[in-house]
Amino acid sequence: MSTATQTNPDALAQRLADSGLRSTPQRELIYRVLLDKRDHPTADQVFTRVKAELPGISLATVYNCLETLVQCGLVKQVNLEREPTRYCPNLHPHAHFHDERTGATHDIDLPPGIFSELRAVLPPGYEAAGVEITFRGSAVADAHPASVQ
Ligand SMILES: [Zn+2]
Repeated sequence: MSTATQTNPDALAQRLADSGLRSTPQRELIYRVLLDKRDHPTADQVFTRVKAELPGISLATVYNCLETLVQCGLVKQVNLEREPTRYCPNLHPHAHFHDERTGATHDIDLPPGIFSELRAVLPPGYEAAGVEITFRGSAVADAHPASVQ
């Protein structure tokens, strides 16, 4: 899958500008780190990765930047029970598979239309702002799971 359009730094600057925010080196770096390794890192993991390039950055700044990226719609929060929040830059509607053995979280593509079908089961008078689907389990020992990012 090509990520060329998503890694365009102008896209970040534009999205931030649309939200009335400036692009800063910290915001750019954190967004790039999320795009580079799409393993749904926690804020702590993002902090470790950005510190390698920007040793002076603080965890508070990382949290603030992540919050900004979430607010302007470039990054989604992934919340799993009893786990710290993770961050996902994949903006296509998708589900997550949380491997309980390894702790890894993968993106799972869904059949087109599944989200509108799910919204359709809501009783009249309700409107969903979002739908989150998370599978949990583990890879079957002798199967070869499809390659995921
Ligand atoms: Zn994801």
